Amino acid sequence: MTEIADERLGGIRLLLKRDDLLHPEVPGNKWRKLKYNLAAAREQGHGTLLTFGGAYSNHLRATAAAGRLLGLRTVGVVRGERHLPLNPVLSACVRDGMTLTYLDRATYRRQRDPDVVAALRAAWGPFYLLPEGGSNALAVRGCAELGAEVGAAADVVCCPVGTGGTLAGLAAGLPAGGRALGFAVLKGATFLDGEVRRLQAAAGVGDSGNWSLEHGYHFGGYAKTTPQLLAFAADFTARHGIVADRVYVAKMLAGIYDLAAAGRFAPGATVLAVKTG
Ligand SMILES: *Cc1c(COP(=O)(O)O)cnc(C)c1O
Repeated sequence: MTEIADERLGGIRLLLKRDDLLHPEVPGNKWRKLKYNLAAAREQGHGTLLTFGGAYSNHLRATAAAGRLLGLRTVGVVRGERHLPLNPVLSACVRDGMTLTYLDRATYRRQRDPDVVAALRAAWGPFYLLPEGGSNALAVRGCAELGAEVGAAADVVCCPVGTGGTLAGLAAGLPAGGRALGFAVLKGATFLDGEVRRLQAAAGVGDSGNWSLEHGYHFGGYAKTTPQLLAFAADFTARHGIVADRVYVAKMLAGIYDLAAAGRFAPGATVLAVKTG
């Protein structure tokens, strides 16, 4: 845990939880989300993991690394068309032994439909299925451990939100009275509120009701950026010596600074930001 001293934070105390340091190749929330899924895949005797992601998915990359480390075959189902040469994320997946396959966007959106899953089983044989972003009930269970670890240290615990699994687990794991605040990195992703509730229900933890989502800090949408966000991230690194990734962590931090300046946190509150990757 690192304390971020910065006069622009007004009266709040900001702590940074370095979850990015959890594992060198499967960082942060990806490790927490995979942990119980990998154990389940093993218990069920699976030799193959199959999962879904966009072309810049940290989750695909983490799954490929975990597969290599554990001796499991990995199949990555990528949204959209194949572009060569592969980008750095997909190249790293291939180096880790992942087989890449592609689904057009319409079919990709139906990734949970039985006919789509059946076609993948016909093509790739039996596999343990991890949904997009690795967010499922077991991922929520893994992320609940994060809530339990950090909850007592803070009034509000913040995380960036892509598919919602991390926020669902984090909120569920907080001690009584703790609150979680997620920062959506997708534009107009109001469906995420329902998704967090669905994931908590799937994990059998009920609707924890102790979280909310900010939708105003996507900076143009997923993997998009603005000069303002870039300037914020560069300044944060210059002041604190910590690199905040622009897809997720920088958006959350920029949001926290903005809410602090607007007086949206109680005076003297301790706000803990999870550096998820
Ligand atoms: C994947 C990722 C997230 C998003 O987590 P979700 O559980 O999909 O909401 C947040 N931060 C980082 C660094 C990530 O790689």
